[in-house]
Amino acid sequence: MATKTLEARFEHLSVNDENDSHAAGKTLSKAKKGSVSTAVSLTGLGPANPPAASSTRNQLLKIALQNTTESKVNASSPNLKDHQKSSTVLYEQPAPKTLHLGMFEIGKALGKGKFGRVYLAKERSTGFICALKVLHKSELQQGGVQKQVRREIEIQSNLRHPNVLRLYGHFHDSKRIFLVLEFAGKGELYKHLRKENRFPEWKAAQYIAQMAAALKYLHKKHVIHRDIKPENILVGIHGEIKISDFGWSVHAPNNRRQTMCGTLDYLPPEMLRSGSQDNFYNEKVDLWSLGVLTYEFLVGEAPFEDTPVMTQRRIARGDMSIPSFISPEARDLIKRLLVLDPEKRISLEEVQQHPWILKHCVKTEKASQRSSNQK
Ligand code: ATP
Ligand code: MG
Repeated sequence: MATKTLEARFEHLSVNDENDSHAAGKTLSKAKKGSVSTAVSLTGLGPANPPAASSTRNQLLKIALQNTTESKVNASSPNLKDHQKSSTVLYEQPAPKTLHLGMFEIGKALGKGKFGRVYLAKERSTGFICALKVLHKSELQQGGVQKQVRREIEIQSNLRHPNVLRLYGHFHDSKRIFLVLEFAGKGELYKHLRKENRFPEWKAAQYIAQMAAALKYLHKKHVIHRDIKPENILVGIHGEIKISDFGWSVHAPNNRRQTMCGTLDYLPPEMLRSGSQDNFYNEKVDLWSLGVLTYEFLVGEAPFEDTPVMTQRRIARGDMSIPSFISPEARDLIKRLLVLDPEKRISLEEVQQHPWILKHCVKTEKASQRSSNQK
């Protein structure tokens, strides 16, 4: 309970932070040594140990708040009544800045995206390991994606699920935006898939069960991901998957026209159609993509992979074939997800209860129930 409140305040502070480049800039000039451009490799910066990580995470949040007058006031008067607390919050809103580059020791580069780089980072005072994503404002502007990034931040910082990559906070200086992300110790799922060529059914089923749990959570919060594919899924240290990349996500319902870039392979038929009433779709788009994902996990390639024109044509017709080595149960699930009519696709609850999932994931189900009950 106490942690929850702290986390809520932490977020609030980081959001405020974005609008104050002056203060952030000042901290940055002092923190030149740790700056990304002079990043040095850290020794002993191993993957975070999760049980320790969750306690250090709380610690980090506490430390992050230690400099704020708010926490001092509350700590010194723990018996504040509710109305007193809320007036304290009002009074404390223009709190001192918490997150800044100097707080982090920057480690090795984890990867490079279209608009920036991601580094392993350690919060100096707590040793908390995270991933720091650095986006250059000029590049975002050139790419015309500032709005998209803003939305990504807004949406992702409000999400808390074991299979959704956490965004702990963000800050910026005059040139860059920094996202403090949960570190996914085993990297991209895409790389694992390419290395293994295709996953055994038990593994694919466990991944799909985790995807279903994450999507159920997102949809409950009225968030449609819209860009589900192996490239946007990271793997945690225990092999658990973490959905990331909320750049295309929106709050449902959506009737906005949007140009998608990148692969067409995962695009649902209702997002392909053009016409006056076009692009009116709902969270069922993620179910289609979940079907494509199930197929790709098991087969090693996406079901509609072809030239761009042919891919679109084949998606619009639902034209695909499932190889004979796929089990009847898996085949059944794929067919129930890759249904042209969005309303006729199987629901996430039904995915979770599907014989193929139950066959391979009974333990996982119970474990995830246990962890969600603990929350
Ligand atoms: P795009 O710009 O199309 O979104 P991307 O998703 O690859 O590309 P980033 O999200 O910037 O771009 O990530 C770049 C790479 O860094 C990822 O592909 C991944 O290998 C690595 N990476 C990103 N975030 C993390 C993280 N939280 N933990 C571990 N590795 C990460
Ligand atoms: Mg990405």
